[in-house]
Amino acid sequence: MSYHRSTLLEKQKHDHYDLLVIGGGITGAGIALDAAARGMKVALVDKGDFASGTSSKSTKLIHGGLRYLKQFEFLLVKQVSRERAILHRLAPHLVLPEKMLLPIVKGGTFGKFATAIGLKIYDWLAGVKDEDKRLMLNKNEGLSLEPFLKGENLIGAGLYAEYRTDDARLTIEIIKTAIKKGADCCNYVSVDEFIYQQEELVGAKVSDIIGKTNFQIAADYVVSATGPWVDQLRHLDKSLKGKRLFLSKGVHIVVPHNRLPLKNSVYFDVQDGRMVFAIPRQRATYIGTTDTPYKDKLDEVFANESDVEYLLDAANAMFPKAGLTKSDVESTWAGLRPLIFEEGKPAGEMSRKDEIFIADSGLISIAGGKLTGYRKMAEKVVNLVAKKIQMAKNKSFKPCQTKEISLTSMPFSNFKEALDFQHFIQEKIKPLGLPPHYPAYLVENYSKDAMIIADHAVVKEHDVASELAVMKCELKYCLEHEMVMKPADFFERRSGRLYFDYHSIQANLDPLLDIFQKHFKWDDPTRMAEKTAFLQLMQAVRNF
Ligand code: FAD
Repeated sequence: MSYHRSTLLEKQKHDHYDLLVIGGGITGAGIALDAAARGMKVALVDKGDFASGTSSKSTKLIHGGLRYLKQFEFLLVKQVSRERAILHRLAPHLVLPEKMLLPIVKGGTFGKFATAIGLKIYDWLAGVKDEDKRLMLNKNEGLSLEPFLKGENLIGAGLYAEYRTDDARLTIEIIKTAIKKGADCCNYVSVDEFIYQQEELVGAKVSDIIGKTNFQIAADYVVSATGPWVDQLRHLDKSLKGKRLFLSKGVHIVVPHNRLPLKNSVYFDVQDGRMVFAIPRQRATYIGTTDTPYKDKLDEVFANESDVEYLLDAANAMFPKAGLTKSDVESTWAGLRPLIFEEGKPAGEMSRKDEIFIADSGLISIAGGKLTGYRKMAEKVVNLVAKKIQMAKNKSFKPCQTKEISLTSMPFSNFKEALDFQHFIQEKIKPLGLPPHYPAYLVENYSKDAMIIADHAVVKEHDVASELAVMKCELKYCLEHEMVMKPADFFERRSGRLYFDYHSIQANLDPLLDIFQKHFKWDDPTRMAEKTAFLQLMQAVRNF
């Protein structure tokens, strides 16, 4: 299925919607899908690309939040951890089981007994099945599983079940599914002003950033799912009072997998009492995160030298054999947690619960929460909107449907089928002689559509080097099917290469920009401006 932004944009200009969703991160995407699937007429806009806010900058785990057990948030843990299994079923190629190792060290956050009990409660709250239940390991078993762990002070380890994903890919799959269900979703459309009738919100004045035009979107209800920008939109609505957001910055660094060759993800103690993840992903391992108050520009959030040093020190303390230095760091990302401010609490201790604010104008804002809980957050918001429409217009909608809506165009029946498909792709791309991570990379990113990319790369692009052949076919696929408008949309959010395969971009940028230029009919100054902006981004993620 192709998604033509211009067609969707035209509809936004002329249609009248039940619901306008502002924000195309995971929260807004989830709301648009839920509402469209119930039969509401929905528009969604994002001022940048889909997932260009926090939803491409997370730790990329679909997790129950073990740390929240420490804060006794049992209900939150139970709800989000049960969601893991649902999301795995809906997107088995993209929400992947991941074993997590919790090293137990002398004087660490969790002792042996507390780990054994804590992980048991965690499994129980999450409804984890037999073979995936937690395993307690002694020191030698822990070290033989992960030889790079520091042996000194190690008492043992707990091994338990989590899931990892790609946050931006998950968001784009939800957006694509929402469009399929009838939602009109456009990236690069910014809400600049609200429109009121007798003080009630009835739509928004927006700018199309790409076409450089302004228009209005008419809607009975407006939801702001703008994450870190929620208070800005509340300010625009003149309804910013009471509770506020507290923004906390979280940074991740990426090193080549052979510099920190972990087989499992590891969740480990840092000297200052915090805990950090190290997560293997295809050709890389990433480490994060930090948790520091943030008051600077919301659109330019990057790692700095002290963030990178903190994470390198943390990793080297747990994995001294790796001896990581700044020169190993290939890329970084930094995101903002939109937390709900709690007086007197440090950032790390503020609750990650979501919260809905309803203004007198009718503006509904949702903030806080987690990637993992997006479906339940969406259900809550859409229930609220459905109730309002029912009361105002006596029009009723179906209950929430998203538990059964697959998040890929051609669903896999289960995880095994997704793994088998990786083997199939491996055979298909054999003639290209690509590095071994490619089958997983292609299937995790593009699901069964990896076949289209692999087919074209093998058949049509045999005159260019193999990596470029695949990249060209990926880009053409994303331009046609995933509303890519700018280089960063493709390199950062559709393919994840900016973070996980930085060098592949350096080696192939110009021929790929040729494809952009041809597709969008850019003149030379436009191409130059797009290239310059993207090179600045490439520099910014390595500016430490
Ligand atoms: P965002 O993704 O920020 O989306 C808001 C969107 O609104 C943006 O795309 C923005 O462009 C748009 N917008 C703003 N203003 C306007 C406007 N005027 N007009 C139009 N559009 C506008 N959760 C997990 O479950 N697992 C994890 O492993 C995890 N790790 C995390 C690690 C870090 C470092 C951080 C920061 C968060 C993490 N989270 C995790 C939490 C999770 O990432 C967030 O809760 C989630 O991504 C928030 O999504 P959102 O859609 O609410 O906000």
